Amino acid sequence: MEINRTAVVKLSVPSDRRDDLKRTMNTFRNATQRFADRGWDGDDGYVITSGNHLQRLVYDDIRDDTGLHADLTVAAADHAANALDGCVEKMKAGERTSKPVFTSNTTVYNTNAITYFDGYCSLAAYGGSRVHAEYVYPDDSIQAEYMESDEWQKQGAKLRYDHQSDTYYLHVSVKKEREDSSGEAENQTVLGVDRNVDGYLAVTSTGAFIGNADLLNHKRREYERRRARLQQQGTRSAHLTIQSIGDAFANWSEDFLHQASKELVKEAVSQNCTTIVFEELENIRDRISNASKFQQWAFNELKRQVTSKAKQQGISVETVHPAYTSQRCSETGCGFTHEDNRDGDVFVCQKCGKELHSDYNAARNIAHKYIQNRRKSGSGGATYHLALKSGTVNGNGDYSPSTV
Ligand SMILES: [Zn+2]
Repeated sequence: MEINRTAVVKLSVPSDRRDDLKRTMNTFRNATQRFADRGWDGDDGYVITSGNHLQRLVYDDIRDDTGLHADLTVAAADHAANALDGCVEKMKAGERTSKPVFTSNTTVYNTNAITYFDGYCSLAAYGGSRVHAEYVYPDDSIQAEYMESDEWQKQGAKLRYDHQSDTYYLHVSVKKEREDSSGEAENQTVLGVDRNVDGYLAVTSTGAFIGNADLLNHKRREYERRRARLQQQGTRSAHLTIQSIGDAFANWSEDFLHQASKELVKEAVSQNCTTIVFEELENIRDRISNASKFQQWAFNELKRQVTSKAKQQGISVETVHPAYTSQRCSETGCGFTHEDNRDGDVFVCQKCGKELHSDYNAARNIAHKYIQNRRKSGSGGATYHLALKSGTVNGNGDYSPSTV
């Protein structure tokens, strides 16, 4: 388990370098705005919410125009993407929203753009130079401990300028691993996830249905049809168009999977889950009818994105073997396994009569399987719970209703 904190440290900036930092800050803000403008205009009718996607479209132009440091340009794209993501979130909730406008005196430094030393840091600045600034904090303060103790690992930071006091403050993200000697004895709540090539891309054991896989397939087919037509033409301009529609489709799918992975991790967080469990589908083709390379890529990419987002929340991602997860009845105390139990989207247990959405049933089994595996391996007395729609079930099958 990871503990995350923000250390806020006043900086003493040499007087002859204050303007450089200010100019860097203004340039960063302009670059962020330009990324956001481009993302808001969108791609194929969709607001762009992926920093990588924004970079592919306008990184070179923005760097050329602004002269911003390469790492800060990357950070500006991510910063803009986060803001756009917030807008999309509001749209989905049916709220009013408008294009993000950046006015604050903030520069975002990723770990390449800032280096931490004892007592001072080195910040990337305008024109490729670095600015050294000393930390100013009372001794023995918690901020001093965050910054000086090796236990806390320093990550990226935000530099903020306070106009009134004419002062620069550095907000540093720090983290440390929680000692886990007794950790295994903690309560572990497990979210099972079933991934699919049609219908919903992912269904959780808590009953969240995420991502329209049919839309993903439709877009893919549309792209392939266009590509095939262009390939027949065989001209140089057709070849260039193939490249550009290929890039556009790659961008679109990445955004699509970004949204789905974000929703999935949000579900895990809202259900207090400590572990997300997928099936190992990466190398198994026979379970997926017509499994194409593209679908395998989408499954892999979804898992990769979920893993990276879950990590930030201190949630681990695990896998189990997929055998029988779609045939087994997930009803507590039943577990009857038979191929006749499943008919397309509908799962009806031939023994106990339980009726569930097939994917939801599979997701519950995936989490169940993980818990059984852990219990068999005798993992240090931890108590495992299976996160369900309206409560949790532990490894013994005891049910506890949700406290909500
Ligand atoms: Zn049953």
